[in-house]
Amino acid sequence: MDAGKGVGMNTTKSQQLFHKAKELIPGGVNSPVRAFGAVGGQPFFVEYAQGPWIVDADGNRYVDYVCSWGPGILGHAHPRVIEAVKKVCENGLTFGAPTAGEVELSEIIRTCVPDMEMVRLVSSGTEAVMSAVRVARGYTGRDKIIKFAGNYHGHSDGLLVKAGSGLMTQSVPDSAGVPEDYAANTLTAVYNDEESVRKLMEENNGQIAAIVVEPVAANMGVVPPKDGFLKFLRNITEENDALLIFDEVITGFRLSLGGATEYTGVHADLHTFGKIVGGGMPLAAYGGRRDIMSCVAPLGPVYQAGTLSGNPVAVTAGITTLKILMEDTGIYERIDRRAAKLEEAFRETGLSVNRAGSLLSAFFVPGWNVPERKETVPEAKEQERRAEERNVENYEDACRCDRQAFADYFHKMLAQGIYVAPSQFEAMFVSDAHSDELIDRTCEAIRKSIKA
Ligand SMILES: *Cc1c(COP(=O)(O)O)cnc(C)c1O
Repeated sequence: MDAGKGVGMNTTKSQQLFHKAKELIPGGVNSPVRAFGAVGGQPFFVEYAQGPWIVDADGNRYVDYVCSWGPGILGHAHPRVIEAVKKVCENGLTFGAPTAGEVELSEIIRTCVPDMEMVRLVSSGTEAVMSAVRVARGYTGRDKIIKFAGNYHGHSDGLLVKAGSGLMTQSVPDSAGVPEDYAANTLTAVYNDEESVRKLMEENNGQIAAIVVEPVAANMGVVPPKDGFLKFLRNITEENDALLIFDEVITGFRLSLGGATEYTGVHADLHTFGKIVGGGMPLAAYGGRRDIMSCVAPLGPVYQAGTLSGNPVAVTAGITTLKILMEDTGIYERIDRRAAKLEEAFRETGLSVNRAGSLLSAFFVPGWNVPERKETVPEAKEQERRAEERNVENYEDACRCDRQAFADYFHKMLAQGIYVAPSQFEAMFVSDAHSDELIDRTCEAIRKSIKA
């Protein structure tokens, strides 16, 4: 198959649609990043997608590395998933009463992630994390939580606090419309910085309900935890009778079938899942230890509900997707290996790359395009310092990247028929539909697009 049509592609229909959309929908989109604000230009409107391809309203075709921001681990419109969804639709779309599928999906989730002793299905990742935090507060009887700058946990009021650079002692909301009172209970630490967590724990002794963390951060670009960091979080929460919540909305069923726990060996008390677990439909889940989940209504006093929770169509998409992942044991090896190839291509260009399994980000760190002067080989210490400087380990590091260089790269890739996320702070998602041949072509496009 040919890659997209390249420079000079016709985008008339997308432009017309965007014009109309802006009149009707704030910014023309139903989720901000879709508007291409960080890279300039106008978004394309999607007509359909198949396997690794996404096709816009004007018939331009792109290799898609956004994969709907994570759900598309099998590529688009997997025939088995589509078939199952079509079939279940004929039985009715929603009942607001329990179905066998909800039991089956919950059992599959527990099989993959044994720590999910009890599971509650909801409709979005936002809802899952919001609910898990509520359960943690209900269970511990404490109000405060610790999160990390640059970790995204959906758009619920108490979690829209990111803090600027460095450790914040004052909690300030990230969005207009979030009362400062809500944000006051959200303390922000620095990812990969144990001392910042220890300090907050000490200053708020006996008041922390939970630490919520992306076990591999993927919303400031991909930032893996340093060796021992998650283990440290496990220990400090235990010592302080606080809970550890792994927000696995991205990492769940992505890093491995068992998510971050299998990938890192660290156990959390509560987990949240979204994206892949719904197989492309609006479905998410939270759960974990039985004694904690027993607090959830109607079993316990923590209220959480949803008209469309456990929707039978979404549940079917989730079940079918997870079954494919369980049956085809080679998937994770394949997608990880392909992502490693992309990583290699990015490294050749001088960018700083973080990768965890099939998630990766290439960062335009300061100095990425300054060639090493061959005649003066720096001393070992200096080399180490320079390497350190190029590492992206937290939000502050990510924020130092050259966003204009990223925007240039984004548009050059798009012109070559390759769609990567329109922001420096998002992951590149590799799916099982990205063939070795397409990966090779993508590597070629990367080399062409990024020149120091
Ligand atoms: C996407 C995401 C969410 C929010 O999920 P939605 O389904 O968009 O509400 C929460 N946490 C993480 C880590 C995510 O990546």
